[in-house]
Amino acid sequence: MRYRADVAVLGAGAIGSAIALKARGLGASVVLVDAGRAGSGTTGATFSWFNASSKIRLDYPREYFELNKTGVEHAYRLARELPDGSWLHPTGNIEVVSGRGMDQLRTDVAEMVGRGYPVSLVDAQAASDLEPALRLPADSMAACYPHEGWIDGPHLVRSLVDGLRRTGGDLVESDAVVRFAIQNGRVARAELASGSSVEADIFVLAAGIDTMALAALADVSIPMVERASPSVAGLLVHCQVPSDEAPPHRIVHVNGVAVRPNGDRRVLMVDAEGDPELTLDTPAELLALKADVVLRRAREGLPGLRVASRTSVVIGVRALPTDRVSIIGHAPGVDGLYVAATHSGISLAAIIAELAGSEIVLREQQRALEPFRPSRFVRSDPEVATAVQ
Ligand SMILES: Cc1cc2nc3c(=O)[nH]c(=O)nc-3n(C[C@H](O)[C@H](O)[C@H](O)COP(=O)(O)OP(=O)(O)OC[C@H]3O[C@@H](n4cnc5c(N)ncnc54)[C@H](O)[C@@H]3O)c2cc1C
Repeated sequence: MRYRADVAVLGAGAIGSAIALKARGLGASVVLVDAGRAGSGTTGATFSWFNASSKIRLDYPREYFELNKTGVEHAYRLARELPDGSWLHPTGNIEVVSGRGMDQLRTDVAEMVGRGYPVSLVDAQAASDLEPALRLPADSMAACYPHEGWIDGPHLVRSLVDGLRRTGGDLVESDAVVRFAIQNGRVARAELASGSSVEADIFVLAAGIDTMALAALADVSIPMVERASPSVAGLLVHCQVPSDEAPPHRIVHVNGVAVRPNGDRRVLMVDAEGDPELTLDTPAELLALKADVVLRRAREGLPGLRVASRTSVVIGVRALPTDRVSIIGHAPGVDGLYVAATHSGISLAAIIAELAGSEIVLREQQRALEPFRPSRFVRSDPEVATAVQ
């Protein structure tokens, strides 16, 4: 089979599917290709909290916070624009801290308020009034983020892909890109495992953690954290809550655990502190022990979870650029290749699609994307290049 389109998007997670639909909406013919089923990558196993508040610390550049902040607004907009926007759950988020963490939280909240981000500080009593599932010591306080929430990743992708097909775009599933044909310095064709091929004016690499490997097929370096690194793996603990107990209504960050509702009487939690021992190869027995620790910590702040039962434990795979910040833009050194690799793609899918779509189809450079260009990893000075390697 030979496909031909103006734009070929490679990878049908939240990022690729959103870009594909946006490009189609701007009038381009589009083919979206995935090695597996659309939405079955990281987007199918993620905590899925849309927010910018997690980008206020860790020395993230201000521009990255702003991109996520606009991302939250665009997620709401996308949910309104699509016929089915019920993948977005605007529950709000409460972040609880106690003891020494309170000074840091005050500083962060003041900074976010200064940046125009909706957040307020409340004492322990007010936090428990807002979220009755919480039980907090008196020396604690909470930040409330009323417009944050969570997105059902697979549902979002279904909604995007439905939109793409409805408007005449093509989806190719279960067929991996295995090679690029490059002619005169331009990517001319992607060859698929089945023997099919895709010709396009521009190829968008949106393959999550596999973007680095895909880019390497075109001799382009997109530095991302290797799969073996502990920072790539994230422990996701799914639980069922019996009918006589109250699960939280919001996302709750407490005791280093993030907990959110996950449909009827179900909750999902993730270790928000990170686990330096966890990798994609951690054996199942150890995962179960780690999951129990996460659940125990969650129960300290959310006693209603004391009878919650663990239904499954999943390791999610983070696609992390080495400097932890999105890589978005035309690939350096070869024409016809555009990269969209990022962590926090649930928060960012809608805004990246909006901006990248304009760059790809309308050829309008977007200033908001300038800090995120793939070219930042290219050093023209050979001495520096050697040092960086
Ligand atoms: C534990 C965990 C918690 C997270 N929590 C949050 C959060 O709270 N908020 C947030 O915003 N983000 C969060 N993220 C990140 C977020 O889930 C992802 O950034 C988001 O799902 C977007 O993923 P993606 O589209 O880039 O990649 P993916 O969903 O992985 O999609 C990439 C697709 O590319 C396909 N592919 C790979 N190789 C090829 C090939 N050769 N040819 C064709 N197709 C290929 C794959 O099959 C896959 O479907 C979390 C991630 C993890 C792991």
